[in-house]
Amino acid sequence: MAGLYVHVPFCAQACSYCDFHFTTKLGDRDRMVDALVAEAEATLPEWREQRFHTLYFGGGTPSLLGAAAIGRIAESAFTHAEWNLREWTVEANPEDLDPDTLSHLRDIGVTRLSIGIQSFDPEVLQWMRRIHTADKAVQAVNDAAAAGFEHISVDLMYGLPVGAEERWAEDVQRACDLPVDHLSCYILTAEPRTLYGRQLEAGNIATPPDELVLRQYDVLCGLASEAGFEHYEVSNFARPGGHSRHNSAYWDGTPYLGIGPGAHSHKGQDRWWNSRSNAAFLKHASTADFRGQRSSEKLSGRDRFNEALITGLRRIQGVDPNALETQTGWTIEPNGALDKLLEDGRCEWVDGRLRIPEKHWPMGDAITLELMR
Ligand code: SF4
Repeated sequence: MAGLYVHVPFCAQACSYCDFHFTTKLGDRDRMVDALVAEAEATLPEWREQRFHTLYFGGGTPSLLGAAAIGRIAESAFTHAEWNLREWTVEANPEDLDPDTLSHLRDIGVTRLSIGIQSFDPEVLQWMRRIHTADKAVQAVNDAAAAGFEHISVDLMYGLPVGAEERWAEDVQRACDLPVDHLSCYILTAEPRTLYGRQLEAGNIATPPDELVLRQYDVLCGLASEAGFEHYEVSNFARPGGHSRHNSAYWDGTPYLGIGPGAHSHKGQDRWWNSRSNAAFLKHASTADFRGQRSSEKLSGRDRFNEALITGLRRIQGVDPNALETQTGWTIEPNGALDKLLEDGRCEWVDGRLRIPEKHWPMGDAITLELMR
């Protein structure tokens, strides 16, 4: 079982907080589609022993390519690997989703949309430098449901330096009232290479206090639960049947292949990633030499143990120490750090698995650090 990720490195405009790999120069889109098709053709045959279950177009803004180009890349992937397709997600921004495009995406076989909404508050959307309005976001979700999409996820953000505190409860409630079965809600982190990072550095803006972020987290957990969502990962909530299979496979350690600039791949002890430079990627694609622009590393048992802890403790099911030992050769040490975490309730054992209780997930990275080897 494996997953395929396709990175589409284009956005119509740079959001103020985003440091994902993308360019706003859209002129190379056709060449990039050709290159992605070529990488699928060149790389997937090396994965013949795997059966792919999930396909995920992320970015960037994949919806900027249009359904025909997305379908062309997928067709190449379907042709060059074994598939038992259970889920095909496309990330999309509201401004790209009109009824014709949605219908076309359904026709080519897309089963799930992940729509970047972030907020319904005009002041917040403006600070984020989002292109769409709140009304357009609502319309896009409703149009997607009308087009027959049963699996729709929306992204929201909190812990922002702008907007009234109560806007967060309104945003979450508005998202819960939409015909969606998944929410991804992220705490904003300031990245140095972004407009937000530069505003902070210049002293023009301040990060919100931790207490406010924690209050917003509590509001989110409460409203999502009331609306029938299970909080299954620190940033992710699903109604029954709405869990993201592709992302769950990442967290399970299932092998995945990433194609496109900056995309990461992982199989067994090996991890490799493509150059983040579109120019370098396109240059190598012109000779179908995709290995020439990759970097790689071999993961030790200890690396895999630490990674499994990082991803496992972000999830509701936590980690199974026996499985960890079998997979990595390393165990969770019964020691002072673990005793202390158990004693003060920041970790707990449930059915033989170690997990972080929901109320402590926002501090999960610091907790995990205490258990890493
Ligand atoms: S948040 Fe999404 S749309 Fe905005 S710049 Fe990042 S990838 Fe592009």
